[in-house]
Amino acid sequence: MSSFRLVVLGAAGGPVDRHTSAYLIRAGHGPWTRDCALAIDAGTLVSGIKDLYSQPNASDDGFLPPIAADRSVHEASWDVLEHYVSAIYLTHPHFDHIAGLVINSAGLSNLRPMRLAGLTSTLHALRSHVFNDVVWPNLTDDAGCGTLLLDHLAAAVEQPANDGLAVEPFPVSHGHNTESTAYLIRDCRSGNHMLVWGDVEPDTVARTPRNITVWRRAADLLLRHSLVAVLVECSYPHTHGAAPLFGHMSPQHLIDELQTLATLVGRPHIDCPVVITHVKERCQPGEAARQTIKSDLEALAKQQGLTCNFLMAHPGMCLNL
Ligand SMILES: [Zn+2]
Ligand SMILES: [Zn+2]
Repeated sequence: MSSFRLVVLGAAGGPVDRHTSAYLIRAGHGPWTRDCALAIDAGTLVSGIKDLYSQPNASDDGFLPPIAADRSVHEASWDVLEHYVSAIYLTHPHFDHIAGLVINSAGLSNLRPMRLAGLTSTLHALRSHVFNDVVWPNLTDDAGCGTLLLDHLAAAVEQPANDGLAVEPFPVSHGHNTESTAYLIRDCRSGNHMLVWGDVEPDTVARTPRNITVWRRAADLLLRHSLVAVLVECSYPHTHGAAPLFGHMSPQHLIDELQTLATLVGRPHIDCPVVITHVKERCQPGEAARQTIKSDLEALAKQQGLTCNFLMAHPGMCLNL
């Protein structure tokens, strides 16, 4: 039995204005019930759910709730957000992680407020620079109308997200001015975890190296066979070379980070899938850009004697983990 069901609504880091980062996660067992799921990031929400429902047999295997006979795909997509998602956990306030939330927020109701969770740096930026009654109406419960309930998370403290999942946030570095977040999510029934990184830069270039703290935790879980997946970004291909990273990873950096994890575990292989997110689709369209980075990662891992199963996140991807 799987511990998690993961649905990728969007996995890109731009610059194309669709399919930007958002992940729907729920415990791997049981039917869809109220508040059973959570979202990590919200670059794409209702449009990504609609796209998925438009695929044949989308809800047959439980990755989306079944559509009731009297509901359209459009209505059912809103139902997912309003009825089944207990909270949206934001990794950081960049537009490619919040665009869907901002646009969709106009369709949410005060009768069913949405909990918006994140580190204070993220929520403060969102309140000050987006939901500020200038860029967008203040829909928050911080002196606004209260459609969005801001839930400030304490770093490295696990809190329940709903009946089945618990979430622990770790602050990480993403360029000089932005704090991002890695979320460790625990399935309360199996005790298994998945680790979802927001945008992040390698410890070797960060002014404040903080990835090591997260990798130590991941290594401990790997040794106890209770880490089932790592979602981590690799924004640029290897040809990016020494060009500025803007707070991101390219393949060599990610391999170095994974080597750190392997060293902590004490063996040259990562025992759970590493799902690559946030590929930038500037020079190539999505599938080609992802394939380039996958090839780069596999070649570098082989060179360095690291065994790792890389999966490339793409819109509509559904995984049992
Ligand atoms: Zn991003
Ligand atoms: Zn970012």
